[in-house]
Amino acid sequence: MSLPKIIAIDGPAASGKSTLGQKLAKDLGYLFFDTGVMYRAVTWAALNYQLALDDSMAMTTLAESIQIDVRPPSHEDGRQYDVLVDGQDVTWEIRRPEVDANVSVISAYPGVRAAMTAQQRRVGLRGDVVMVGRDIGTVVLPEADLKLYLDASAEERARRRHHEVVGRGQPSDYEAILASMRERDRIDSTRAVAPLRPADNAVILDSDTLDAEQVLAKVQEIVSDCCETEISP
Ligand code: C5P
Repeated sequence: MSLPKIIAIDGPAASGKSTLGQKLAKDLGYLFFDTGVMYRAVTWAALNYQLALDDSMAMTTLAESIQIDVRPPSHEDGRQYDVLVDGQDVTWEIRRPEVDANVSVISAYPGVRAAMTAQQRRVGLRGDVVMVGRDIGTVVLPEADLKLYLDASAEERARRRHHEVVGRGQPSDYEAILASMRERDRIDSTRAVAPLRPADNAVILDSDTLDAEQVLAKVQEIVSDCCETEISP
C-alpha cells in the first residue's frame, strides 16, 4: 500500500487541526508543520518592533527578512516545539491576544503571503509531511495527496481555546475569545489572496460532533484508503 506523502490540513482557528496534524505526523513518522506559527511570528515581530501594521510594504519587508525557526521543545511547559524569531524564544508570545487580534490583517497582505508560501512550499515538496494552515490544499501544496478540511462551530472552537488558556493558568474571557475568533474567521475567509476555504477535492470533517480521538480514527481510515489506486503490483 502506498501512503499519502503530502497531507494538507486546513480549517478555521481552533478546529483541532494542530492536534490532529501532530498525532497523524507522529503515527506516520512525518514532519509536522504548523504554518500559522509563521504568520504569528511576523505579527509578533511587527508588534515588538513597533512597526506600522497598516504599512503593507513594511510588513512584506519584515516577512522577507526575519528568521523564523521551529525546533524541538527546550522546556517542559506544555509546548510542542520552540518558536524562535531572530534567535529569541517567542513560543508563548505568539499566542497572546494582541497577536490573535492582528494576525489576520498581516497575513492578508499579498507580499507577506508570498514570502511565507515560498518557504512552506519548499519544505512541503520534500514529502513525508503533514502541513496545517488555511490555504495548504488550495495554494501552498495543491498537489497534496490527501487534503483534509477540519471544521467546527465558532462557539465550540472558542470553548476549546478558552479551556486551553485556563489550563495554562492564564486569565481567559470566553466572550472575548469568541468575538476575536469570529473576526479572524471573517478576515481569513474574505481576503483576496488565498482565502480560507476547503479545496475542491478536500475531505471535510466536522469536529463539533466528533472528539479528537474520533477525528483521528476517521482520518487514519482515510489515510489507509487514500492512495490504494497507486499500489504497484
Ligand atoms: O492556525 P493559527 O490560528 O495559528 O493561524 C493564525 C493566523 O495565521 C490565521 O488566523 C490566519 O490569519 C493566518 N494563517 C494564514 N494561512 C495559513 C496559516 C495561518 O493566513 N496557512
